[in-house]
Amino acid sequence: MRCTALWIQSFFAVVLASASAASLAADKPVTAQEIAVGTKQYGPAQQSQGGLSNLDLELQAYVERVGRKLARASAFPDLPYAFVVINNSELNAWALPGGKIAVNRGLLAELDNEAQLAAVLAHEISHVTKRHSARMQKKAGGASLLGALVGLGVGAKVPEYRELAMRGASAVAFAGQANYSRDHEIQADNEGIKLMVAAGYDPRAAVDVQRVFLSKVQNRKSNALEALFASHPPSQERVNNNASRAGKYPEGGMIGKLEYTRAIARLEKDRPAYAFLSEAMTAYGKKKYDDTLALCDKAIALQPKETLFWELKGIALLQQKQFSKSISALNQAVILNNAFFRPLLYRGIAYKEQGAWDKAQSSLSASNALLPTQLATYHLGEIAQRQGDRETAIKHFTAVANAGGELGEAAKRQLRDL
Ligand SMILES: [Zn+2]
Repeated sequence: MRCTALWIQSFFAVVLASASAASLAADKPVTAQEIAVGTKQYGPAQQSQGGLSNLDLELQAYVERVGRKLARASAFPDLPYAFVVINNSELNAWALPGGKIAVNRGLLAELDNEAQLAAVLAHEISHVTKRHSARMQKKAGGASLLGALVGLGVGAKVPEYRELAMRGASAVAFAGQANYSRDHEIQADNEGIKLMVAAGYDPRAAVDVQRVFLSKVQNRKSNALEALFASHPPSQERVNNNASRAGKYPEGGMIGKLEYTRAIARLEKDRPAYAFLSEAMTAYGKKKYDDTLALCDKAIALQPKETLFWELKGIALLQQKQFSKSISALNQAVILNNAFFRPLLYRGIAYKEQGAWDKAQSSLSASNALLPTQLATYHLGEIAQRQGDRETAIKHFTAVANAGGELGEAAKRQLRDL
């Protein structure tokens, strides 16, 4: 933690030196330190949630365009805003302090028009400009993704790869999953509606979005809602509040049905493939690995370029101890997205099972460079141990032990034996 604090200070100094004087004036609510924290956490936070959705770069660009349009109209247009689509089927969106915002692929698939997307992004921008995300982080104990090793099982309420994530699932406090208070939610809704109007959108879309989320939560049809429910809980109060606020503005703002339909055309086409993935994950959670593999193959037949389909196939094969086949599926997952830590991690484990130490080490290290996890570090420790590199093994096991949890206990036992 000490290193972390020092690191922030030095980064803070750099930001102080380079940021415009205006953004540091006393009346500006977002501080340079918040910007530094958000910037530093953005990458790891994206990784922990599924990495960037890279199948449709035009969709990424579209979401960024809508986000920037709103950001320009916001109270603080000069913040280093960024908007990305995360490769995650859950309905969620999040913001880090300073303007780093993300929206899940699964949420985009539930929206109907550009104004609804603007409602989601304007709400997140408002959490930033009202400094809710910064305050939540302070409450959660500060920059918890910085420096520490991340346990897996992060944000995985579904039994996502639980068996392999196994002993490492220490909970990671992450600002994007912070529970905003009821007051903060209403404040972000109100500010968001103002922002939508300022950017030219019809604010009634914010009411529609809340209605959609609320009805999904009430029907409890899907466990893809857990994250949204935890971070931005929908409620009848919010629907009513949005309706009364939005109703005060004249009609005629942009809806953008055609633009949105065009932007998510690919997502729409891939909907059945992602439905197979969801079934495959359920089967995996029940340890039905043959079913998992059959469902992954169905998904792949519909969309062979989605890294997640190949990844789950590789993990199920790993469970079945079919290491060569597992490696070839995970290789495909890495080829399709080499900027996501998870396939690299599991491929490293598969190589290790085969005794291919060098390949295992390089895959696990590449995974840790994207998101340092307890699981990868533990396996790196075991590899070092088997190679007779006691010093490196101690270094890795100590880091795992310090991160706590069951895997931390396992690392402590390893350290005692060394
Ligand atoms: Zn919120």
